[in-house]
Amino acid sequence: MATIIIDDCINCGACEDECPNGAISMGDEIFVIDPNLCTECVGHHDEQMCAAACPPEACVQDPERVEAEETLFERAQKIHPDRSLTLTTDTSHFRAKAS
Ligand code: SF4
Ligand code: SF4
Repeated sequence: MATIIIDDCINCGACEDECPNGAISMGDEIFVIDPNLCTECVGHHDEQMCAAACPPEACVQDPERVEAEETLFERAQKIHPDRSLTLTTDTSHFRAKAS
């Protein structure tokens, strides 16, 4: 699923610089995520960085846009053709770390 920002957003801006894909920007009233740039942080981090940074927990999964790890990783590779991205427990929330 892509991540979306819900109305609980307080426009603090904390999420914007956390996104590895530059997917977050100020919208008409609250911050918004471009779903074509959101990879759920797959390829970069093991969690959604915007959600981790958001005080009111306004960055949530979009149930209308369910996407597989493969799809999200391919998007990350297209966004960053100059980088050698990998899928590991550190770069995909789909791969649970062993406890
Ligand atoms: S989940 Fe990751 S890639 Fe998607 S908007 Fe949030 S920080 Fe950016
Ligand atoms: S971190 Fe949360 S509250 Fe702050 S701008 Fe981003 S979505 Fe809005």
